[in-house]
Amino acid sequence: MKILVPIKRVPDPQTNIAVRPDGTGIVTDNVKFVINPFCEIALEESLRIKEAQGEGEVVLVSIGGKECQEQLRTGLAMGADRAILVVTDGPLDPARAAEVLAKLVAQESPNLVFLGKQAIDDDANQTGQLLAAMLDWPQATFASKVVIGDDKKSVTVTREVDGGLETVAFDLPGIITSDLRLNEPRYASLPGIMKARKKELKEVPLAETGVSAEPKVKQVKIEPPPKRQGGRKVETVQELVNLLHTEAKLI
Ligand code: AMP
Repeated sequence: MKILVPIKRVPDPQTNIAVRPDGTGIVTDNVKFVINPFCEIALEESLRIKEAQGEGEVVLVSIGGKECQEQLRTGLAMGADRAILVVTDGPLDPARAAEVLAKLVAQESPNLVFLGKQAIDDDANQTGQLLAAMLDWPQATFASKVVIGDDKKSVTVTREVDGGLETVAFDLPGIITSDLRLNEPRYASLPGIMKARKKELKEVPLAETGVSAEPKVKQVKIEPPPKRQGGRKVETVQELVNLLHTEAKLI
């Protein structure tokens, strides 16, 4: 099976993010960037599928600046076979990212595209769904369990939905997006890191894909959340109840 895994470079979720004073984005100086955690989970699951089958190919894709090479090399060190970097300087919204991925699907003909359910920078949660619509492929989002059929032509996916779990099945090719509880991603081993240096990382300028760099949705402004007010200690339960009533207006 050939699995295409789109991975996005995002700020480390452990990093304290500061918004630029002009509201055009976040301050990126001294910010560590990593593979989007949900993409890492999608990659881990794809590697497990390949290992269980004893054959196949896991191909990484990232769309962004040259700096995305770093995350692609990490993914190769985890065990992916090769990587494609679609190079663009400006921000791409999920619709444009999905258009680029649709072009790559046409070239690569994967059996499965395994994405993260969302990128933790913009929290869009759109790319997998848009890609499925563009390709007219079946999709299972928010996957917490993935079982490939014995014939390798179908898949059964357990999805995390409000209030429980839903199990769906479809014939491949198709789209899956990973949820948090699907697996625990591995760390890249030292031999993996050494091997990754020799693996193919192909760069393709965005213009070559024929997809416009003009975002369909423009980010107008980013604002930090209001500063949290300090807490207050109360002496009695009655005082707390009164405050909940008069100030918080919760009761
Ligand atoms: P989003 O719809 O932006 O929340 O992203 C959902 C998923 O789409 C991510 O977890 C990635 O798998 C994929 N994706 C989105 N943007 C990119 C990008 N620029 N490069 C590679 N993959 C992406």
